[in-house]
Amino acid sequence: MSIGYVWNTLYGWMDTGTGSMMGASVGARLQPITHHLAHPDTKRRFHELVCASGQLEHLRSIQAIKATAEDINRVHVPEHLQNMQRISALPAGGDAGDGVTMLGNGGLEIALLSAGGAIELTRKVVQGEVSSGYALVNPPGHHAPRQGALGFCVFNNTSVAAAYAREVLGLKRVAIVDWDVHHGNGTQDIWWQDPSVLTISLHQHLCYPANLGYTTERGEGDGHGYNLNVPLPPGGGNAAYRYAMEKVVVPALHAYQPELIIVGSGFDASIMDPLARMMVTAAGFRNLARTIIDCAKDVCEGRIVFVQEGGYSPHYLPFCGLAVIEELTQVRTVADPFNDFLTTMGGDELLTAEREAVDSAAKLVRDIR
Ligand code: ZN
Repeated sequence: MSIGYVWNTLYGWMDTGTGSMMGASVGARLQPITHHLAHPDTKRRFHELVCASGQLEHLRSIQAIKATAEDINRVHVPEHLQNMQRISALPAGGDAGDGVTMLGNGGLEIALLSAGGAIELTRKVVQGEVSSGYALVNPPGHHAPRQGALGFCVFNNTSVAAAYAREVLGLKRVAIVDWDVHHGNGTQDIWWQDPSVLTISLHQHLCYPANLGYTTERGEGDGHGYNLNVPLPPGGGNAAYRYAMEKVVVPALHAYQPELIIVGSGFDASIMDPLARMMVTAAGFRNLARTIIDCAKDVCEGRIVFVQEGGYSPHYLPFCGLAVIEELTQVRTVADPFNDFLTTMGGDELLTAEREAVDSAAKLVRDIR
């Protein structure tokens, strides 16, 4: 069966303003720059590599449809959408609430298409029109909690898709595995008391947001045990992520037996990313993708949906992303041109601190049923 792929031209039009991360300010001597750290060119370059590599011939393009208010309000408070409508209508848009998440004029349409792209791919996978797929959406979503926008994220796209799968498509159990290098705090917040969505976050410990992402954050009430954090020490590379996948993610998915796996696919754990300090290469992401695709075949008939999260290296993200797409299509097209340079830097050896961090998270898997 075919592999679905979502991209919309407007994802590349997300206006991140003239700041570098926070807004440019003459008073604070923060110079304007044309390339915000979350500038959409990074994601657009990934899409263009998908096109230029020839992978599109092996993918089935799926049209994103704007998420509705009902879709958004399943996981966010109604005031959040109202605030985004107001900011999007301003002549130059503005700050979506935390000082770094910019929503340009009309940007609401892009954010709704991003959440809606995740929904459309999920719908087609669950209904069997495609076997699995990649939603290369923008803006990302995993930092956005129930209350609002955060950390470049406007709506929590993976959660919007999971809620749609639960409430509209009738699934009982969905797993969200988030390998973006930052903690999936928004996803954790949304499903905190709900065991019907297992949330797993692999992240660099205390990278962002502050003081979140500890293994002790496990959910509450009925949801206790169904939020799993795997905080990794800075500097972890392919070996640390592979070990975390084998020791925590795969056993947790086997224990939980979801009907659908949604991957929050960020590439900011890459060795060339400016916003974190991990050392994963395209080969490392390829291995993660292979492992979780195979796991999906074992537990949920291969139903797996990758939804783009962060990633801020315009140079390297396209090759990391392409490696994941190649594992979906099982067709190799372009070799990572940085590989020889990057593999000499380390990251393929599991260090003691990494092993200990993963082993302590692995102890929590036994509570998943
Ligand atoms: Zn991130």
